[in-house]
Parts: sequence; C-alpha cells; structure tokens
Amino acid sequence: MSKPLKPIYYAAFVFALILQTFSNAAAQTVEAKIKITDSNVFVKGKFIDATNAKNVTNFSFLKSYAGNENLGARISEVSLFDQNGQAINYKKLADGEFLAENDFRAWSYKADLTVPKNVSALAHVSWLAEEQGILMPGDLLPELAEKTSAKIMFELPKDWRVAGIEKKSSTEFFEVSDVEKAIFYVGKNWREKEIAVGTAKLNLIISGEWQVSDDEAFQTASGIFAFYEKLFGGRAFEKAQIFLGKFPREVKTGRWEAETRGANITIFSSEMNFKTQSLQRLHEQLRHEIFHLWFPNGVNLAGNYDWFYEGFALYASLKTAVAMNQIRFEDFLDTLGRAHSIDTLQSQRVSLIDASKNRWNGANTQVYARGMLVAFLIDIVLLQKSKGKDALPEILREIYQKHKLSAQRQDGNSAILNVFQSRRELQTIIEKYINGTENIGWQTDLDVIGIESATDNFATKLSVKSKLNGRQKDLLDKLGYNNWRKNSESSK
Ligand SMILES: [Zn+2]
Repeated sequence: MSKPLKPIYYAAFVFALILQTFSNAAAQTVEAKIKITDSNVFVKGKFIDATNAKNVTNFSFLKSYAGNENLGARISEVSLFDQNGQAINYKKLADGEFLAENDFRAWSYKADLTVPKNVSALAHVSWLAEEQGILMPGDLLPELAEKTSAKIMFELPKDWRVAGIEKKSSTEFFEVSDVEKAIFYVGKNWREKEIAVGTAKLNLIISGEWQVSDDEAFQTASGIFAFYEKLFGGRAFEKAQIFLGKFPREVKTGRWEAETRGANITIFSSEMNFKTQSLQRLHEQLRHEIFHLWFPNGVNLAGNYDWFYEGFALYASLKTAVAMNQIRFEDFLDTLGRAHSIDTLQSQRVSLIDASKNRWNGANTQVYARGMLVAFLIDIVLLQKSKGKDALPEILREIYQKHKLSAQRQDGNSAILNVFQSRRELQTIIEKYINGTENIGWQTDLDVIGIESATDNFATKLSVKSKLNGRQKDLLDKLGYNNWRKNSESSK
C-alpha cells in the first residue's frame, strides 16, 4: 500500500540531505541540558551563537553507528523554536530526521535510551540502565554542522555522578570541543582514580565487583600506556579516561565489547572462570584499546583504513603481550595460526582496502584476521631485512609522527601505503595482500625465521622448527621466543 508513496518520500529525503549540506556550517556551538529520567533523557538545546545559525531547517540525528541501525527511532517529542521562543512547525521525514518550516534556534526532545538488545551495541551507542549508563553526545545531540562543539550540563538522578574528561567551564557545564569524540559515564557505586603516567593523566573508572583488584587494573593500564608512549615517541592526549564496567544484562563468560573514542576507552566485560584468566583478558583488552589512543585516534587520517589500525592493534598487542611476559610464545603462534585459518576459509576473499569499506556489512572478521596477518608478515620481512633489528616500532612511530593530530588531514590508506612503499621489501605484501586478494602464502618468510606452518583439518598450526640455525635463533629471539623460555623457567 505504501509503495506509490515511496519515490516521493525518497525524493523529499534526498532533497533534505542536499539542503542540509548547503545550510550546515562547518562548525557550530550549541548548549545542551540533558536530564536523565529512568531510561530516557530529555534534552533542551540551543545555538550559542545564533548568527551562525541562519537557514538551519534540518534537525537530524545519527542513524547508524558501528553496525547498529535505526538509532533515530529513539528520538521523539521533538519541539523546535524560533528566536522568540515560538514553536515552529516541522515534518518528520524519517526516524531521527525532521524538516522545519522556518529557521530554528532552540529545540527540545526525548531520547529513549533503553538498553539495546544487541550486546555488541553496548560499547558503541548511548544507553541507560538501573545504576549506570553511557552517554555519547555523537548519537544524542542533533547533527547541525560538520563539527559541533557544545556546552553540556546534566541533571542526574539522586546519588548519581557523571565522569568526563572534558574541561568544565563552570560547576555545571562541560566544554566539549567535538561532540563526536566525547563520552560521559553516568551512574553510581563506581570507583574512580586519576593516575599520572609521566606528564599524562589517566582517569580510571571501575564499576562492579571483579576478581582482578582495582590496584592491579590501575597498574596494568598505566604500564601499557607508558609502554606505547615510549614506542610511538609521544602521545596525542593530555588526559585519557578508561571505563571498565559489567554489562547491564547477563552475558556469556568471557564476552566483552569495547570502544576507544577520542581519549575515552570504554570496556564492558564479563568475568572469566579464574582470576588469572580475568587478569589476562584485562591485559588483552587494555593492550588493544590503549593502542587505539594512537591509531586511529591520535592521528589526523581520514577514510576507511580499519585494516591497518585494527590489524596492527591486534598484532602490536600480541607482540606486547609476549614482550611483557603476559603470554607464551606458543600462544602468540596459536593466535596467528587461527587468523590464518579464518582468512584461508573465507569463501569470498576481498582486499583489505575493500574489506575496510565494508567492515559493518560482513567483512569485519577479515579486517581483523587478515589485517593482523599482514602486520605479522611486515614485521618478519622487516626483521629479515634489517638483520634482526626490531623495525616494526620504527615504522609505526614514523606513521604516528608524520600524521599526528596537528598534521594536515590526509587519506589514511594512501598515507600508510606511502610509508610502506618507501621500504622496497614490503612491495609484495602490499600488492598481494593489502591491495590484492591472494591467499596468505607465508612458508618462505616463515622458514627464514625458523617457524613452520602445517594444516590439519582446515586449521593452520604454527610451530618452531626443531632444528634451528644461528640466524633463525637470533630472529626468533627478536620476536620474543626467548621471553617465553625465560618465562616458563621462572614459573617452574
Ligand atoms: Zn580495535
């Protein structure tokens, strides 16, 4: 029945989008007062500098994020007002998409922040539960400009607190320089501690009871942060915040979901069966997410180059774990073997560049698995070429230093491939595996470092060769093989 209407609706929608492009300013500052009531927020907002706000008739919200669709459906009870505070008529074009009859200057609306059913959404979109919640201005405030800054204040339920790393301009208002990068944690009964790591400050918030003690978590986080700061030769943020919380509903043992946005790391996790496993899991989560404070959050690179920052986050985290004696070398090889099995079994293998474009439409596993394998291959090819010098940190440092937040914005894929291409030995990897879709054939490279690859029942297994020559021993030591031996001797 609704079919004949569809083209008209579609045309209106496209037109609204065109309008939006013309009327949206490059930058805009708004004020927002956010009141929390049960699982809803009531938001009142206005433009702070109304002279910038001419011809703004589009009132719209983020529709989807990280594979979570239909976010606009949470918005209701919208009112728009002109400069005299008079209500303005508007049309609803779609969920989260409104078109006003005249310019508006102020607004109010309700957002239903009931906990999403999909557990994988919980670190990526705003929600409110009984005792805690996460508020992301990026999906909660209207999209009014390419970049929106905001003064935000919260009206909280009794005994609740709010944590955010944004500066406060007064006792009430947080100054948010970019709403897309901000996160606020709200709730009660959590522990908070600010730790100094060199001249940087890490604010750690832990909610819920854990097998791992708060002190162990604080120490782990600061140790990993310091490790990466040294590796990259600098950092992008004066202050970062890490939130560690339990899921607001029952989930399987070991399930976790995390996101790093701006300088905010959010980790929702369940426990493992034993404390040692829980501690190891926390190490893994922090190694991966803290890496993201540098890539992609600490660089000014644009576009979908997820294969790089996810693949290298996994690999750097794995290598860091060996270096810090948190896992055995055998575990390191097992993980790489599993990634190889996943990549080999893909029925439709696409290049990493294409997989990154399609990350939320089914190519996510490949971005991670193949991305990590490419990072490993780059590491061992550089090791061979540099005769055992640990060259991977060097290349990561080069990319970070060249493309820090203060540098000019560039396309991520070309910036990274440029750095890789300056090393001739990486040419084949770029052609076959990053731009190309070839099966990862790594036996020759593995031979040089003394590792062999076998396939058993479609699963790839890596192991250290039983007879090693001097060169192989040296290269393996650089990869952390010796660490494992030291580790196992000391734990006997
Ligand atoms: Zn990641």
